[in-house]
Amino acid sequence: MVGELEGEVECNDSHATQISRTKWARHGGLGPIVNHSCDPNCGVRVNETGACDFIAREEITAGDEITFDYAMRNYSVDHFPDGCLCGTDRCRGSVTGWKDLPAVRKADYAGSVAPYLLEIDRARDADAA
Ligand SMILES: [Zn+2]
Repeated sequence: MVGELEGEVECNDSHATQISRTKWARHGGLGPIVNHSCDPNCGVRVNETGACDFIAREEITAGDEITFDYAMRNYSVDHFPDGCLCGTDRCRGSVTGWKDLPAVRKADYAGSVAPYLLEIDRARDADAA
C-alpha cells in the first residue's frame, strides 16, 4: 500500500510519523488507519516522497487487517501509556518506539523499517564507543 504525506509537523506527537532523524509529519491516504501490532503482517519502506509504504511481510488475504509495528518508523513512541491492545502472542505489553525494541526484534524486522532508525542506532553506538 502506497503511503503519502500531508505535511510536516513541528514535533513528535501521537499522530506524527517520523520521516528522518529529526523530522516528523502527518501521513495522508489510508496510512493513518493502519493499526499497530507487535506481530505485524507489514513492514514499511520509505518511498520517493518521504512517506512510508506498507510492504507485506507475510501472505495477506482478503479480509485480513493490515498492521505494522509503530516502532518500524518512530524511534520514540511515548503517547500510548495505557498499554498495547494488539492481542498477539508476541505482544510486548506497550506500544514502544524503535529505541525500546530488543535486539532480537530489531533483527526480525530487518529490511522492514525506516532507514533513519538504523542511522540513529549507528550514531548512538558510535557515540558510546
Ligand atoms: Zn502488542
